[in-house]
Formats: sequence, structure tokens, C-alpha cells
Amino acid sequence: MPQFQNDFDTALSAAGAPLTRARPEILQINVGKLCNLTCVHCHVNAGPGRKEIITGETIDRVLDWFAKTDIPTLDLTGGTPEMVPDFRRLVEAVRHFPQPRRVMDRLNATILGEPGYEWVADFLAEHRIEIIASMPCYEPANVNAQRGNGVFDASIAAFQKLNALGYGRDSGLQMHFVYNPNGAFLPPDQDELEADYKREMAEHFGIVFNKLYCIANMPIARFASYLKRNNQYADYLVTLKDAFNPGTVAGLMCRNTINVSWEGAVYDCDFNQMMNLPLEGAEGMSFKVWDLDPETFAQTAIRTGNHCFGCTAGSGSSCGGALVS
Ligand code: SF4
Ligand code: SF4
Repeated sequence: MPQFQNDFDTALSAAGAPLTRARPEILQINVGKLCNLTCVHCHVNAGPGRKEIITGETIDRVLDWFAKTDIPTLDLTGGTPEMVPDFRRLVEAVRHFPQPRRVMDRLNATILGEPGYEWVADFLAEHRIEIIASMPCYEPANVNAQRGNGVFDASIAAFQKLNALGYGRDSGLQMHFVYNPNGAFLPPDQDELEADYKREMAEHFGIVFNKLYCIANMPIARFASYLKRNNQYADYLVTLKDAFNPGTVAGLMCRNTINVSWEGAVYDCDFNQMMNLPLEGAEGMSFKVWDLDPETFAQTAIRTGNHCFGCTAGSGSSCGGALVS
């Protein structure tokens, strides 16, 4: 098996495409690793047995800091964010900020069908939360193989319920789907796949949605284990590296995102969080977000590694899908 240096920085230099921060536009909080599923591609290693979730005290400290910034967007991810006991309090508090913020929820739609979570759909609609939901295929077998048996049907039922509340139809209730490949290959063209999804979802299930985001599988955490078990890890890294596209660098999400862990620590992105690569201060100390000055944050370096090739391959990949067409 070939060995790899950390040569993402070399690729950036060779392409004359430096990776520097822009103005922070998104506060992304990973509220924890608790989830009712254990998807093969999960970069969080989330699951039902995980105990790491944000506490009420940490939420208060993050909210206090966030309210004083002019960062326009809050992006909630996990795990399954709704499984965190203070999820509703967090959303309601942000909705009461004097300065309005866009709030996005990275929804695992199957949670809508779990006992005790009957409130989720109405709550999201009431607070006009933008939904970004994983739906790796419009074919049941592919979804169930990647995310678990029964996930396809549970997701379809959830999306139908959300459509009935106005999601995907009302301009104030945006619902986007996320596709990721069912193996060690790059996503196809996002616009073409979106057209296929829209046709299939409408024809077979009467479901409408706004946009499809194509996201590449990152060679870390559970997906890295899957690749290694199948002797595909080295080949997948070569695939990503060979597809390096300097045109994606300007749009990389680490440029304008402040990513925060369930403990309040700051990272460049959710992938670096899972790689345990925190934003480093003096003497290698990590930062809590409530100690962060957004202006000085802009001067700090973004930590890179070979996993970054997952964001720059082909059309590029980010929490908002492809970066170039
Ligand atoms: S990919 Fe999402 S739904 Fe699947 S295990 Fe990870 S956090 Fe849960
Ligand atoms: S993995 Fe994170 S730090 Fe690396 S390019 Fe992607 S978003 Fe940026």
C-alpha cells in the first residue's frame, strides 16, 4: 500500500491557490455524536451509544458569544441534533436574538418516526428552520445498505410529513437533500443528479424539495474504516488527489465557517473536528468559541491534511454541496 505525506499544502502551492480565511459567515455547532443510526459513511462515528452531547451550560456560553457577533447563519449538525435535550431551547434562543439569523438543521429524517420525537416536524416548521437532510439515493436498496434497514421508508414518510407542513413548497420553508456516493467514488454532476432526484421523488413518492447537495465521502472515521476493511483506502486517496481542482479552493467551507464541538472547542470544519485538529492558539492550546475574537480568527491558519483532498476533488464538496459546476 503506498504511503502518503501530508501534501495538500504542496498541491495548493503548486496551483497558486492559497487557502486563507474570509469573513466568518457561518457558525456551525456539532451538538454531539448521539444518533439513532450508524451510517457507513458517517464522519462523526455517531450512534445510539454515544454520550458526547452539548450541555445546557455550554449552550449558554456559545449563545452569549454568538449574540454579540454579526455572523448571519447558524448551522446545527451532529449526530442527530434533535436528540440533544436542549435543542429546542437553543433554537428558540437564537430566534429571539435582536438581529435575525438564518438557522439550518442537518436533519436525520428518520428521527421524525421515533417515539418521543413527534414534535420535531412541527417545531422545525414553526421556527422556519432550513432543513438539510441526508438522502443518498432515490432507490431503497442503496439507502438501506448505507444507512440501515428501514431508513428509506422512514425517510420517505418523514419528507411527506414535512411537505405537508409546507417544506419544499413554501419559500420560507426550505428543504434540501444531501447525496453522497455509496462507495469509494466521486459524486456525479450535481445539477444532473438533482433533476433525476426531483423527477423520481415526485413521480414515485409525491415528494418535492429545493436543492440537492452532492457531498464527497471523506476518508476519515467510519468511512475510512470501511475503506480499509475493503482494501480501498489507498486507491480512494489517489482518486481524490488525482481529481484535485484548484478552482474549488476559493469556495472551501473552512474559509468562512467557525466550527464548534459539543464542548465549545473551535475547529476549521467538522472534518477537522473529527480528526482532532483544533484551531491552535499560543503553545498549541485549543480555543473555546467564547474566547474567540472573530477579527483575530481571520488571521489564523487553517489546518490541512490529506483528507482535505476530499473537499477539492472534481466539482468540490462542502456542507452546501458542489463548489464549481
Ligand atoms: S451520517 Fe448522520 S444519521 Fe448517519 S450515523 Fe452519522 S450522524 Fe447519524
Ligand atoms: S477538510 Fe476542512 S480544512 Fe480541509 S479543505 Fe475541507 S473544509 Fe477545509
